[in-house]
Amino acid sequence: MTLLNDLLNILFPPKCHVCDGQLATHERFACTRCLSKLPRSGFHRRKLNPMEERFAGIFPFRRGTGYFLYSRGSAVSTLIQDMKYRRFPSIGNMLGEIAATELMEEGFFTGVEVIVPVPMHRWKQMNRGYNQTHRIAAGISSATGIPVSLTLRAIRSHRTQTALSRDERLANTSGLFRVKDPEEIKGRHVLLLDDVCTTGSTLISAAEAIWQSEPSDLTLFTLAVTF
Ligand SMILES: [Zn+2]
Repeated sequence: MTLLNDLLNILFPPKCHVCDGQLATHERFACTRCLSKLPRSGFHRRKLNPMEERFAGIFPFRRGTGYFLYSRGSAVSTLIQDMKYRRFPSIGNMLGEIAATELMEEGFFTGVEVIVPVPMHRWKQMNRGYNQTHRIAAGISSATGIPVSLTLRAIRSHRTQTALSRDERLANTSGLFRVKDPEEIKGRHVLLLDDVCTTGSTLISAAEAIWQSEPSDLTLFTLAVTF
């Protein structure tokens, strides 16, 4: 197998998904230079940051951040699109680990006891073959040692959000999730995790289901956030 991999690497040297430059042997998916240049939001250092503002007064939470700034056509969106739609789920592990390593140094995960990724409806997941939020959660878990729970389930599929107004999006995502085993949530400080925060309607629906299981606290994390 190694010989075959070596041969494949010689015939098709792996390239950076962002700049198309050839990767060094220790690099995967993106070169160190492109990864270091991805825009960080720095939201976790700001009181009532622009992501937290989307949820203030809607449900209680301790703090929230989206780690990278997301804009259309950017390097961040290239990596996230490749992770979600082009069968590179391991990009999720990599970016989750990078974000967690940097956030952990600043105490963002202090007190968090369990990581709960937002699920996809199972038909959608079967079709895609993986759920990228599980991969991001695994990356965060490997950096922080905090366990992951897959107890949040999608109970119905929602229509695609893009053509909907804000109010329609909120109605479209209400009652989407349920907690399968409330004991995994009850009395614990939950980190609710998703890939990208745009309007926040998915996280609102997920938080609604989490709070029904009586966690002790809730922190919100997305890999990227629109701004
Ligand atoms: Zn690059």
